[in-house]
Amino acid sequence: MVKIEEDIKLDFNDVLIKPKRSTLKSRNEVDLNRKYIMKHSEKKWEGVPIIISNMDSTGTFEMFLKASEYNIITCIHKHYSVEDWANFKQNNENINWKYLCISAGSSEEDLNKIISIIDICPEIEMICLDIANGYSEHFTNIVKQYREIFPWITLMAGNVVTAEMTEQLILAGADIIKIGIGSGSVCTTRKKTGVGCPQLSCILECADAAHGLGALVLSDGGLTIPGDFSKAFGAGADFCMSGGMFAGHDETNGDIIEENGKKYKLFYGMSSKTAQEKYNGGLKNYRSSEGKTVKIPYKGPLEDTIKDILGGIRSTCTYVGAKKLKELTKRCTFIRCNRQLNTIYGNE
Ligand code: 5GP
Repeated sequence: MVKIEEDIKLDFNDVLIKPKRSTLKSRNEVDLNRKYIMKHSEKKWEGVPIIISNMDSTGTFEMFLKASEYNIITCIHKHYSVEDWANFKQNNENINWKYLCISAGSSEEDLNKIISIIDICPEIEMICLDIANGYSEHFTNIVKQYREIFPWITLMAGNVVTAEMTEQLILAGADIIKIGIGSGSVCTTRKKTGVGCPQLSCILECADAAHGLGALVLSDGGLTIPGDFSKAFGAGADFCMSGGMFAGHDETNGDIIEENGKKYKLFYGMSSKTAQEKYNGGLKNYRSSEGKTVKIPYKGPLEDTIKDILGGIRSTCTYVGAKKLKELTKRCTFIRCNRQLNTIYGNE
């Protein structure tokens, strides 16, 4: 018989964080750094656990150079050539490799490219292995293969949204499980397939599973305002990844488009028609696009957005009395709500 899970699954805008008595006097007392030791690679990592998405407009070398100043990770997109990597290394002397992650899909071509890039840049410590549907057996085997080839490297793998698959990918060798299906701002998976899971509940379920095995989760997609980062960390995410919040800046790919005196930048899903045409010679006959192409208002320098997000998280921590980001989960109680924001004067 067809089953229905009756308990309500929640998204970021279904909840608010309840304030708690606090001894903190100011936001600058809050420490947003986290320290992790990775389960399989045994690498130590320390920094602000935010990751810029490996979409081709946001996961750029320019984004990395700026974001790494804030100890934030950039997951570099997989469309740079091996030569691009060689030039990047040659032209940048002080690269902080801790905040750089490279990306691969499940193809053999991707693996060969990763081997060549790591040959040129042996300092690389993280690989993000991601495909839209992390549920296939083939993907688990790919994770095992990468673990065998790169035992010293921290592996992120996904995307999945449930506890059993989180456990399976950890047992296959992943250190960090990338969670979220259909939650992205330019993703149309839920529309095209009806598949997905509200992101806050997804974090609660997968973080519990990962932490039980001594591994970590990365909440990917669906963050639309700084408060969502706090909610994701509060729910148990060890890292948060965003594309949309970091899109539209000077450091992203693509030109500024001017229309009626307003400035925009193009932002599109990696399985949108735009991306498929750019990298795969168009949409294959058997598949439909599961991503949108949108023009988003130009946002200026990345730095302003980073400061806004970090300031917001620090403020959340003072509201609940968390001196360190690490304490946020322990001090977080969510209140279910039916209206999160007052938008009478717009969404600003
Ligand atoms: P955002 O932070 O913009 O809400 O979501 C970013 C995430 O959306 C990415 O990290 C990636 O996991 C996902 N994503 C990017 N492009 C596409 C796409 O074309 N289709 C789908 N289904 N997901 C996408």
